[in-house]
Amino acid sequence: MRLVEEVAAPATIQEATAFMKRRPDCVPWAGGTVLSTDDDAWPQSGPVPLMDIRNLTELKGINRSSVYVEIGSAATLNAIIRLPGGLGLGMLRETCLSAGTAFTRNLATLGGNLCTTHRFMSCMPVLYCMDASLELREHGAQRWYGLGRLVDENGKPRPLNGALLTRVRIPQASWSTWAVRPIGTYRYPHPQAATFAAAARFEHGALAELRIASAGSVLVRERAIELSLVGKKLPLQNRDVEDFAQGLLDKAIALGSAGDFAERIAGLAAAFLDRAPEEAL
Ligand SMILES: Cc1cc2nc3c(=O)[nH]c(=O)nc-3n(C[C@H](O)[C@H](O)[C@H](O)COP(=O)(O)OP(=O)(O)OC[C@H]3O[C@@H](n4cnc5c(N)ncnc54)[C@H](O)[C@@H]3O)c2cc1C
Repeated sequence: MRLVEEVAAPATIQEATAFMKRRPDCVPWAGGTVLSTDDDAWPQSGPVPLMDIRNLTELKGINRSSVYVEIGSAATLNAIIRLPGGLGLGMLRETCLSAGTAFTRNLATLGGNLCTTHRFMSCMPVLYCMDASLELREHGAQRWYGLGRLVDENGKPRPLNGALLTRVRIPQASWSTWAVRPIGTYRYPHPQAATFAAAARFEHGALAELRIASAGSVLVRERAIELSLVGKKLPLQNRDVEDFAQGLLDKAIALGSAGDFAERIAGLAAAFLDRAPEEAL
């Protein structure tokens, strides 16, 4: 663990915002399951101010409308697992359920899962597939962003630097099929653990929507590659699936993924797409 030079424990978002304005270099502490176990999760420079956000009950709420579910950034993974079915959150709930033990999931938060600055954790590719957006408080203002706000141009985590993630909004979409799988043999919290996620919707015998992403040290996703298959009749042609998998492999390698890792991503994508026609019947 890094040296801490000042600790704040705000009770309201306003207090948190005021502290972040004074100390934009502060590190928010949510569940602490990453910060307390992984030195690489801390800024590499000297002592840092810490902002303990565990008392911010405003960040723990989960609300829903007819079109989306909004999850407070400090909602725990167990709180997400306990949500009722029928909200279109199956992918996210399964991902939360596979994270650590019940003890870890009682501390671990969705915000902490998304805001790690040294690598991506397992909810990131899943929420990409679910087309989630993020509410941030920065410089005293409240703004919504796409998930891309957390990813830089090289596919690596983009630190929030003085901003607080407050809510995650997930559209209530119904998918015909989805999958979340570990990539390779390592499991969290191992530094090389990574996750593959995919979701597809079929309409009138064709692929109407497709999302595929994987995340470890980099986030691999490419809307243009997904769109190359959208609208195609089912079952997909082998050639189309092969081209898709090759496109994903090229993208993963371009982002610096190791060859075997990139091949696993492409293999999982091809297996998901091969299965898709069966699901459509
Ligand atoms: C045994 C074990 C198993 C695990 N299994 C998994 C797994 O299967 N999948 C997985 O994804 N993870 C796993 N983890 C890692 C971790 O538990 C989760 O990723 C968890 O969701 C992190 O949340 P946290 O609240 O504990 O994060 P913290 O440690 O509190 O914070 C993590 C990072 O996010 C930042 N942060 C937190 N909240 C905010 C916010 N609101 N705004 C801005 N920045 C913020 C922090 O400053 C820090 O940089 C595991 C950990 C352990 C110990």
